[in-house]
Amino acid sequence: MFWGHLANASLEVHFNQFLSPSAIKTSAERKLVRAVRHAGKHVPYYRDLFKKAGIDVSDFKDPSDLKKLPFLTKDHVRNAYPHAIVADGTDIDACHYSATTGSTGRSLPFIYSPKTFAFYLATNLRVYTMIGYRPWHRCCYIKYTAMDSVAMGPWFNFHHIPSVAPIEKQMDMLRHYRPDFIDGYASIIYEISRRVTASDLKIIRPKMILCNSEMSTVHQRNAIADVFNCPVYDEYSTEETWMVASLCKNQNYHLFTDNVWVEFLDSDGREVKPGEPGEIVLTTLKSPAMPFIRYRIGDIGRMSTRSCDCGSPFPVLESFEGRADDSFILPDGTYVSSLKVLNTFTMYIKKYLHLMEEFRAVQMEKDWLDIELVKGKEYSDARFSEVTGSLSTLLKNQVKITVTPVDAIDLNGKIKRKAIESRVK
Ligand SMILES: [Zn+2]
Repeated sequence: MFWGHLANASLEVHFNQFLSPSAIKTSAERKLVRAVRHAGKHVPYYRDLFKKAGIDVSDFKDPSDLKKLPFLTKDHVRNAYPHAIVADGTDIDACHYSATTGSTGRSLPFIYSPKTFAFYLATNLRVYTMIGYRPWHRCCYIKYTAMDSVAMGPWFNFHHIPSVAPIEKQMDMLRHYRPDFIDGYASIIYEISRRVTASDLKIIRPKMILCNSEMSTVHQRNAIADVFNCPVYDEYSTEETWMVASLCKNQNYHLFTDNVWVEFLDSDGREVKPGEPGEIVLTTLKSPAMPFIRYRIGDIGRMSTRSCDCGSPFPVLESFEGRADDSFILPDGTYVSSLKVLNTFTMYIKKYLHLMEEFRAVQMEKDWLDIELVKGKEYSDARFSEVTGSLSTLLKNQVKITVTPVDAIDLNGKIKRKAIESRVK
């Protein structure tokens, strides 16, 4: 069943690449209307929203009607999950479940149906094929969890490198697997690129590298490309909605409007002009079991006025301007990506969903990490010591970790704050 969905979705997403830009646009508009109407009819949370806004679901006819609906925030999702935000009649146990910390440090649970999950995997595969991946390429992906194995003999060989593993271990694994293709966090690949030796580069010879999960700079990607002597691409996605955009072979971002509807808005909620930075607001087009409609992710991006001649019909995005991550510098001078710290928390949020309601980890001094913690209903000292134990190992036992219980995380007047922060400069 799942493989059938995956085969269909792979055909669909690859076929979409050959449509004209206007056909893609029309199809996205149609999908948007269908997705919002479905949510308004079948998802209790949106049914209430429509009622409160005084809108009849059948009056939703055009993408411009989207402006009549309020935004969806992570708090809304968290409070409504599962019963209010999941469509009537969904068999939650048959769905793919996940949770994320996002960049703000609050746990957020969500599900997608097997059909949606297959579609998301297919959009992922399309990003790979777009930049030259072929099924016989050996691939190493750096993530905090491993995917289910999909290998078919010599085809689809994907090897997991844990993102929280020490860099030496990650480099050993690369030497062992000798990947044609590396997919992972920009900061980690960048760190690896600064450490590889000439003899490593005789063994580790990727044909292409794909960065994701965090903002990478052109400088960072160029530096990686220089070391490995291969093209480096960037992909932008969220765990809740999957693929949003990715760099093509011409190094232009294309927005995957067959998966998400994207708005770029100013602080008053008005659409900004192409070329101007705006807050990215996403609406899922392919997740009827748990739709995200006008979902604020807090990132900033700019649409482009340019077109791209790579052949992709998807609209061009100029740049992403959010999600910059800091790194921690340890007393011995080495640095640890803040993403590894965040991923350590994520591992435990997946293990004990209500261990922490919210947290912020701040490196106060080189040898001191303070965790502000809003305890969850499943909190216990023993469980939380697993978190601090893992953090201590990650920080090479060079950093004292303190925990400060708080009732809420102080936002300091900022709308978006970082869950992982370093005050060491
Ligand atoms: Zn292009």
